[in-house]
Amino acid sequence: MSLFDSPLFKDAFDQLERAAGTMGLDPNIAERLKYPKRALTVSVPIRLDDGTVKTFMGYRVQHNMTIGPGKGGIRFHPKVDLSETAALAMLMTFKCALVGLPLGGAKGGISVDPNELSRQELQALTRRYATEINMIVGPSIDIPAPDIGTDGQTMAWFMDTYSQLKGYTVPGVVTGKPISVGGSLGRAESTGKGVAYCINFAAKKLGMEINSKTAVAIHGFGKVGVPAAEDLAAQGARIVAISDVSGAIYKESGLDIKECVDWVKDRRFLKDYDAPGVEHITNEQLLTCPCDVLIPAAIDGVITEENAGEVKAKIVAEGANGPCSRGAIDILTENGSFIIPDILCNAGGVIVSYFEWVQGLQNFFWDLDQINGKLHDILKDAFENVYECSKTYNVDMKRAAMIGALRRLERAMRLRGLFPA
Ligand code: GLU
Repeated sequence: MSLFDSPLFKDAFDQLERAAGTMGLDPNIAERLKYPKRALTVSVPIRLDDGTVKTFMGYRVQHNMTIGPGKGGIRFHPKVDLSETAALAMLMTFKCALVGLPLGGAKGGISVDPNELSRQELQALTRRYATEINMIVGPSIDIPAPDIGTDGQTMAWFMDTYSQLKGYTVPGVVTGKPISVGGSLGRAESTGKGVAYCINFAAKKLGMEINSKTAVAIHGFGKVGVPAAEDLAAQGARIVAISDVSGAIYKESGLDIKECVDWVKDRRFLKDYDAPGVEHITNEQLLTCPCDVLIPAAIDGVITEENAGEVKAKIVAEGANGPCSRGAIDILTENGSFIIPDILCNAGGVIVSYFEWVQGLQNFFWDLDQINGKLHDILKDAFENVYECSKTYNVDMKRAAMIGALRRLERAMRLRGLFPA
């Protein structure tokens, strides 16, 4: 598969072209943004617990670093390939630009099912991958973070390996670290918290209130879905449906979120969850169930032209990266759904990653109120800008967000110019 072949890359490319057309982006800037700056493919051999050696393919793609060092997660998932990683790196460029961070866009990953590896094997995989890509990452070059299939422990192993290679501790090489090795308060919940903030901003625009009448369905009850559910449930919303890889559950009067969180915390699957009034449905059924707010927070490409017409939600909050295809966005918009685009909706993660990076560089740590307050304010400003832009150009929020990101990139790229001139 070439760099440009994955559905996600085609979609990101298409989004760029459409937004560029609407805003009249300088074609020479658009031309440069269509290609990643740098892409590294590595093989990652590890010794399995049974003594045999197995090799996995890994990638790190840096899309654009005009505004600052590359930033973006590391994904461990069987679907990872070069083209998908390049698309996700491109989305990170737009996400960081949109919310005004002094960072560029990057992404990495390994094609692997982490659930099939032991803890020791995962550690070996992470350390070898960190070694293979160490020459293109660093606190002022490119700063990885968690994504699907990776977590604080993965980041701690990555940071340790990089630090061993340097000979001294370099906390600023990754974000999303556990607190005891230089992580930031609030980082673990930040993506989901940001999703909940954005849903509140959107509800206000639509004259909706988040209360016990609000039914919320969440596709993907994990790192993003859980904190979003907790925040919205604390506001009184009814979380009517949630899902994981094993299946989905539904209860019209609202699920007991605390109980569901305890269930999944113990690594139990939702397909085995049982409580009075709880129905088991498929993940596809969850996406089209009766609800006011739908949060696709698992993976890309789940809402397509096939099922978009069946979606009932007034607000679709893209907690994952690229969960709605371009065709789906058109159908949802036509049917009156308000879409909160991924590069805005899930930007809470990278915003608090930025705070973690800054705190690490200064060795000065902030309290949780400061972090959540700043997170709220950055997202609020970005939301208002995107909303304004959607009105000015009379386009959906998805295209408006791209326009907002491209404006900032265009200014910076013009000022820095093209080298050599
Ligand atoms: N993986 C997350 C994302 O897609 C976070 C990236 C980061 O914190 O650098 O936005």
